[in-house]
Amino acid sequence: MEISYRSIRIITRLLRKPFGIVHYKYASNSTVKEEVNTEIVTSLNKDIKAGGVVPVFRRALLFPTRIALQDEFGIYTYAGLHQAASTLSKDIAAQLLGESERTIAYLCSNDASHVIVQWAIWMTGNIAVPLTSLHPPEMLKYYIADSSASLVICTQEYEDLLRPLTVELSRPLLITSRDNEVTAQLYQPNSSFLKPKMEESLSDTGKSNMWYGMKDAMLIYTSGTTSKPKGVVWTHSMLSTQIAALHAAWQYSANDVVLHTLPLHHIHGQLNSLNASLAAGARIRMLPSFVSHAVWSRLLGMGEREEARVSVFHGVPAMYARLAADYDTMFAGARTAQYVRSTLAARLRLMCAGSTPLPETLFRKWEEISGLRLLERYGMSEVGMALSNPYRPVQQRCVGCVGRPLPGVGARVATSNDDTLAPLITVETPMCDTDISLEKLGLTGKKELSWDADGNEWKQPKVTVHKESEDGEYQGELLLKGPSVFTRYWNRMSLLNSSEFTSDGWFRTGDTVVYHDGRFKIQGRTSVDIIKTSGYKVSALQVESAILEHPSVADVAVLGIKHDTYGEIVSAVVVLKDKAKLTLRELKDMAGKKLAPYQLPRKLLIVDQMPRNAMGKLDKKEIKKIYGEKLVRGKSS
Ligand code: AMP
Repeated sequence: MEISYRSIRIITRLLRKPFGIVHYKYASNSTVKEEVNTEIVTSLNKDIKAGGVVPVFRRALLFPTRIALQDEFGIYTYAGLHQAASTLSKDIAAQLLGESERTIAYLCSNDASHVIVQWAIWMTGNIAVPLTSLHPPEMLKYYIADSSASLVICTQEYEDLLRPLTVELSRPLLITSRDNEVTAQLYQPNSSFLKPKMEESLSDTGKSNMWYGMKDAMLIYTSGTTSKPKGVVWTHSMLSTQIAALHAAWQYSANDVVLHTLPLHHIHGQLNSLNASLAAGARIRMLPSFVSHAVWSRLLGMGEREEARVSVFHGVPAMYARLAADYDTMFAGARTAQYVRSTLAARLRLMCAGSTPLPETLFRKWEEISGLRLLERYGMSEVGMALSNPYRPVQQRCVGCVGRPLPGVGARVATSNDDTLAPLITVETPMCDTDISLEKLGLTGKKELSWDADGNEWKQPKVTVHKESEDGEYQGELLLKGPSVFTRYWNRMSLLNSSEFTSDGWFRTGDTVVYHDGRFKIQGRTSVDIIKTSGYKVSALQVESAILEHPSVADVAVLGIKHDTYGEIVSAVVVLKDKAKLTLRELKDMAGKKLAPYQLPRKLLIVDQMPRNAMGKLDKKEIKKIYGEKLVRGKSS
């Protein structure tokens, strides 16, 4: 079934309507004070206390005339996004005959269309499944099928890509039209008709807060470890718990201007940069992707109005490495360097790094460039953000470690003895307030935020030692528990008594950590099959199965080889069929039909024999031992 032409016209019209898009000449996230209806806040907080969840789109009612997002097409208020999503939600409801709790896969670029579609899905009570154009058609097909998507939504630019897949899978496709004119039409921030309209829509847009408190919000796909990628089910409750924890720990506020350059099919981009910022009433500056010189120009705010200048950035270490490398070529002179340093130090209140280890050299280099100490944190698709260095005092942000559990997170180090896990130490941080506080978000017009300046919003954890260690160091597998930890994958067997969870409900992360002196240090994946490259997690098994389709390949092992800039790089050790030849270019051309560019091997080593154990399994430790050095020295692409 396909969406009707009428529906397409409705969406086109919807995007053309001058709904709630602010004239930014008059609107400033730092100067405009919302006259927030405190009755709304009280009513929302009452629902939260009773176990309800205020979905992110509904929080827009608290700050309708503020600028929510600025992308390459224009500037949007919270009211503008809400209005657009609300109109689109009617079309979604028509497509699904009013049904809710269905999965809807969607593909949009990193701009306002992503937020509009996501909010529209939530308004109809359905489950958002963000896709990325980085993935080739085969993978997109897998996500649409595995998530049992009842509907696929995309912007016009992706129609050619998705139409054949949706036809093949017999799924309806809804195209949202993009019109550059639309984004040029800007609403006046203080339009008197905006707010009553927003308050009215409190009752008629979306389900009740109590309903959201029990339901699923989105699926975030893992990169696939021993099997195909799995959809982690994120409930609205997990999402709001995480948002409250991040707000308390990193002190988000409506005064923030967040530079967003991360992919949106991953939890880092979805949570830290997008949803936590929108829930605070902040302004997001969204770029279509990470491009170093564009990021530099936004960070320095050259030619920007005061209120649009970036104050928060979330990135992976590879991004900071790229920025640092370009800094050396672009800002060589002493005076320029001084300008860069003083500008960044004065403007940026928070720069976060994570997803792969942050090398010490990079941490130091960035401090030298910007005068800022990067805040490193640890997270996963299954748990969101779990461990973090402190926001304050800045000097306690420690190089090479990821700090302590975020509010509401319990972290345990355990060792395995004969298949059983023995806990060594448990570190549990109490949950913070989940109430919406206008004071803390800087929405009461006061200049100073009400977050506790010493960071006491994020309470000290309770530490329980199960097995004393003589040197105070506890090393083992990291287990996590708490209201922001997931409980199930989509369409998979229950996780109780599975290899992912202990019988008493702790999630086994598969990461090895050391806890010492009040801080956690990540030692890496316990398994060797997950390769972390440029912030992505690549499944070696998935790459191997694509390479094995090459007619010249007899056998293959894919490994991660350490790399200063990318964390690791994907490397292939290949045994060829008799007399066959293979270059890295040919291999990439073929495998690129199945894999995303970041999954393709950057190094290739042809060998005569592949070490396998008696059961025929690849012995990767042995392969690394024998070939690792050659791979490090070999040329890469
Ligand atoms: P993903 O689910 O794609 O976010 O990947 C989660 C994995 O990334 C974790 O299991 C860790 O192995 C790794 N990871 C995340 N943050 C860090 C960090 N700060 N340092 C080292 N590894 C990290």
